Order: sequence, then C-alpha cells, then structure tokens
Amino acid sequence: TRLTRADLDNLPAYVPGRNLADLTRELGIAEAIKLASNEVPYGPLPGVAEAVAEAMLSSHRYPDMGSVALRDTLAAKLGVSADRIVTGCGSVALAEILVKATCLPGDEIVYSWRSFEAYPIIAAGASATSVRVPNTGEHGHDLQAMADAITERTRLVIVCNPNNPTGTSVRKAELDRFIAAVPSDVLIVLDEAYRELVTDPDVPDGVATYGDRPNVLVLRTMSKAWGLAGLRMGYLVAQPEVATAISKVVTPFSTSLVAQAAAIAALGQEPEVRRRCALVVAERDRVTEAVRKLGVDVPSSQANFVWLPLGAGAVPFAQVCESRGVIVRPFAGDGVRVTIGTPEENDSFLAAAEVALTN
Ligand code: PMP
Repeated sequence: TRLTRADLDNLPAYVPGRNLADLTRELGIAEAIKLASNEVPYGPLPGVAEAVAEAMLSSHRYPDMGSVALRDTLAAKLGVSADRIVTGCGSVALAEILVKATCLPGDEIVYSWRSFEAYPIIAAGASATSVRVPNTGEHGHDLQAMADAITERTRLVIVCNPNNPTGTSVRKAELDRFIAAVPSDVLIVLDEAYRELVTDPDVPDGVATYGDRPNVLVLRTMSKAWGLAGLRMGYLVAQPEVATAISKVVTPFSTSLVAQAAAIAALGQEPEVRRRCALVVAERDRVTEAVRKLGVDVPSSQANFVWLPLGAGAVPFAQVCESRGVIVRPFAGDGVRVTIGTPEENDSFLAAAEVALTN
C-alpha cells in the first residue's frame, strides 16, 4: 500500500550545503568554512540577541498571528500600507503559500532555469506544473521567452532578481517590457531575496518601481542581509486584495514570537546592514575578478555569491574545495555557487579554487 503521492517519488529533494561540523570533524581541522547557503557572514546584528532574550519571557504564549508591530515597521520603511504586507516563516514558506493561493492542480508556474531550487519543489507540492525557461547563454533570465511561455493555464511567473544561483539580474528597461507583456490575470512574482546587495542602479527595486501594479508581488527575506536565516522570517508586498487572500491560507502562527521580535530589532540596524553589505559587495567584486583570472567565465553578480559555470567539472571542483575545508555548493553538470564570506574565508576559497582549477 502507498501512503504518499506516487508523483513525489522522482522529485529531487532540496539539498542543503554540507554540514560544517561534520566536515570539520572529518578533516580533523580547527574549523571548516561554509560558503554554501548565502548567509552574510558577520553574526547577528547588534540588539538582536537581546530582543530574542526578552521575547523568550513570553514564549509560553502564542505570537501575534498578524505580526502587526513588524508589519507596521516594514510598512514605514518601504513606504507602503501595512495591509499590503504578509510575513512568513522565511520567504520560501511564503512562496509555497502563494502557490497554494493561486494555483489549482495542473495550473502552470513559469520560471527561469536554472534558478532557485525550491521553485520546482514548491510547484510539485501543490500539483502545479513547472514550466522552465532555459537561461540565456549569459546565465540570466530570458524574459522574452518567459513571456512567450505563458499560456491560459499560467497563474504565476517568477523573476528571481538577482537570480540564485547565477547572480545575474534583469534591468529596468527589460523588466518594464516584460511586465507590460504579461497578461493582467497572471501574477508576476519578483523574488528579491538579495535586494540589499544590489549595486547596479539599473536593477529596479520591485516595491518602489512596480509596487502599484495590480499583478506584481515582491518577495523579500530577512535571512540574508538582515542576518536572521536561523530564525526564519520573510515577507511579501502585494496589493491589499492579493495580500488578504494569501493571508487566508497562511499556516496559523507560523512566524514565531522570537522571529518577529528579532526582525523588528534587526530593522532598527539599517546603517550597520548597509555597512556589512558594502563589505560583502567589495569582496564579491574581488572574488569575481580573482576567479576570472583563474580562467572561469564568472557572470557579474549583484548578490552575495558568485557562479562558476564549470559544467561537468562542478562536482570535482567542489570536492577539491571540501578536501581543503571549504564547503561550496555544486549543481551537478552545471556549475558551482560560492557564497561571499569574510575576506579571510574568501582567501581560503580562492586558494582552494586555484588548486582545483590548475591541477
Ligand atoms: N528566494 C531566493 C532566491 C533564495 O535564494 C532564498 C534562500 N536561499 C529564498 C528565497 C528563501 O529564503 P528564506 O526562506 O530564508 O527567506
């Protein structure tokens, strides 16, 4: 007898980066380095641990299900009304809820590929159909082909900007054209998990630029620049009617009391976040140049990671890095994504990359 859906048998599982403690133990070294999950490497922001400790005193109570204080804080920062914001247990949970709120079985979700590996899993979980549009030769979204892939069954089209794992981004002129071409009954999702790391002025802020469009929704996270990956907090910005519908299928109480308190504290630290992002950006550009000098055609990244399109060499490259205590993220047969760490961590990665690429 089968107790679970047969169609899930062949679904690739989400593969998190290798466990840091395991590799450290295996290699018998002081400490391995993990550059595989796109966190910003500088620890919790000032004040966050204290806010968490204080919130713990009420941890026997349910959290505010509406995240009212946090949504008000976000609303003020983003210049939108709070009824346009929904919070979730990471933006990946919001993406999942969004599919629940928009897709019936067999409805289509168009996205670029390769992109964030959670999209196919989320689509399959809701019995929606993934329509993957191949990236351009420069590893970015082919927006024209994505618009052309829309059918009467398409409910969502996801633009990951900047794109995970390639770091590429789409600029305003092409996004304007794309948004104008998408039918008004298809929801355009701008997944902006890495927005705070964007330095190219032509890459638009989805909330500020397209927030008033009825069929645009922006996904953001507090896992990256805001340093809360371990506490799980993401949010979306949409039109009030869309936000209300999505809120109805949210898992009750799924953003914890602690995560809400931490997020409010983190949002009070914007100058420090900017300072940290600037450090990461400087390192991103340094690592990009250094890997290019080793002969790899690294696309310019607007995020906190770089993409090495090594094809069949991806897994062997990652193995050499691991043997030298640096965990990176290979996508078999395609490429390797390397998160930008501290300058010392990046130096360790570059030393390993040199060995891997010159042997
Ligand atoms: N979107 C993109 C493009 C991502 O890279 C990630 C994290 N890897 C997420 C969403 C999810 O982030 P979280 O669930 O931690 O908010």
